[in-house]
Amino acid sequence: MNNYYEFLKVQPTASLAEIQVVLDTFYNQSRRLVTHHDPLVVQTANQNLLMIEQARATLLDPGKRADYDALLSLSSIGGLADSSMQPSSVPVMSPPMVPRAPVIPPTIQPGMVNNEAWVCSNCHTSNPVRTKFCKKCGNQLGRSCPKCNTLLETGAQFCSECGINVREYERELEIQTAEAERQRIIQERQIAEQNARLGIVMKASNDAMNFTKWGWIIGIVGSCIPYLNFIIGFVSLGLFTLGVVNAQKALRQSQQYGDQPYRSKARTAFILSVIPIGLTIVLMAAGALVLIGSAFQNP
Ligand SMILES: [Zn+2]
Ligand SMILES: [Zn+2]
Repeated sequence: MNNYYEFLKVQPTASLAEIQVVLDTFYNQSRRLVTHHDPLVVQTANQNLLMIEQARATLLDPGKRADYDALLSLSSIGGLADSSMQPSSVPVMSPPMVPRAPVIPPTIQPGMVNNEAWVCSNCHTSNPVRTKFCKKCGNQLGRSCPKCNTLLETGAQFCSECGINVREYERELEIQTAEAERQRIIQERQIAEQNARLGIVMKASNDAMNFTKWGWIIGIVGSCIPYLNFIIGFVSLGLFTLGVVNAQKALRQSQQYGDQPYRSKARTAFILSVIPIGLTIVLMAAGALVLIGSAFQNP
């Protein structure tokens, strides 16, 4: 693994699209290994990810790639040119090399954590590492890692502490937040619907009980008033009927949390209304029979 091409196992003549595909494939492979149980595999995967980002920054930028290619050929030619001084020397590609041993490269690349200074993109002042705002112009230089809260250089792709891909992690967080919000709205809507149905049960059972109560009061008082008791009997019947209708309305609603007291109230109102309706009908029928009977006895 001497240079980015060898690292990625592509030809130096490979097209931008080809390199892109290889980078993406390699990136996905390495990313999967970051959670591997073997710490050695994890270490290698992290190093590969860093390397991939370096390669990406260099090879996908036509200008940088041209410089890099030039350096590559220079170093090989240089090796040959130097042969006058060191006849047996083997061409060594040194300047654009990537480290042989799997160590984290100290090179600073765009989109990576700078280990020496954070340069303000606005006024180009060098600030100490982990400076959140440029000391000269106040431009924001750092932002917190969404996972471990370490201050990272704005635009850093990977967290230097926990190793996450910042943008990807944020995207996942956004998805999770959106899903939580969706669940919250669904739940709120369910609660609202439940409250609306509970409201129907409450109102109908209260109405049922009131109609029943007044049916009884008017019925008892009316039965004591001579000549009017027949008419008042009809008023009471009407109130009891409304009591039954409302009680049924309350009981027809599907069961809700907290509606038990209202359901039993509706049941009581139902029974207290149905009994006098039956009783009144029986009494009125009996009264009518008595009237008819007396009419026959006194021609
Ligand atoms: Zn600045
Ligand atoms: Zn982090």
